[in-house]
Amino acid sequence: MLRREISIVIPVYNEQENIQPLIAELQEVLQGIPDAAEIVFVDDGSNDRSFALLREASTRDPRIRLIRFRKNAGQTAAFDAGFNAARGTIVVTMDADLQNDPHDIPLLLKKIGKFDVVCGWRYKRNDPWIRIVSSKIANFVRNKMSQEEIIDTGCSLKAFRRECVESMKLFKGMHRFFPTLAKMEGFTVTQVKVNHRPRRFGTTKYTITNRIVRTFIDLLVVRWMKKRHLNYEIVETTR
Ligand code: UDP
Ligand code: MG
Repeated sequence: MLRREISIVIPVYNEQENIQPLIAELQEVLQGIPDAAEIVFVDDGSNDRSFALLREASTRDPRIRLIRFRKNAGQTAAFDAGFNAARGTIVVTMDADLQNDPHDIPLLLKKIGKFDVVCGWRYKRNDPWIRIVSSKIANFVRNKMSQEEIIDTGCSLKAFRRECVESMKLFKGMHRFFPTLAKMEGFTVTQVKVNHRPRRFGTTKYTITNRIVRTFIDLLVVRWMKKRHLNYEIVETTR
């Protein structure tokens, strides 16, 4: 079988304490898989030591590639830049804050042949209860309004066939709708239970209030896009 190439794309915004332990864990996991791999860190305008630490790590491990934004542009922009840079045939996404467990990556890779997108589902969420409740409500509303059944779209730990990430035209906030966008392009999606850990270092970049309105508007847009998506089958063409 052909050796697969995995690109792990990780947005980073002020995660200085998490960089070194994250890289150590990733290196350990990569040792256990037969595939070739690269790790693409996208520094989304950090103003702490994140980028300095990433640069240091990249001199020691040639699999680590770096992209640095001039200023904070948001998580979707970071994913977009990472997708454009990724060279792998499979793209894995995750957070930099150690809340996603790199040891789940082999699990996603096992499923990616059968499906085009594999989404992590944080079945035992390790966040403050208010975040867990609001996220449950948000997922419920999102699924109802966009006629979806994605249990946990906010989980960054996902794996995509390269063609999927290439097909998605992204806008701010759209990282929360990756599965829907991929399905709209005809790709298949599955979900797997993944580990979720409490944030030990640094702080969350989101609050409930700073995303509720914007996320709702995004949902209306995605609902519209889904409804208005061009859907036709050509049975015959002539010269
Ligand atoms: N992040 C980013 N740009 C932003 C906000 C967040 O690159 O503008 C990164 C952040 O460093 C982390 C991931 O996106 O790696 C998820 O952010 P966070 O942990 O704050 O979200 P939460 O887990 O609280 O939903
Ligand atoms: Mg987090």
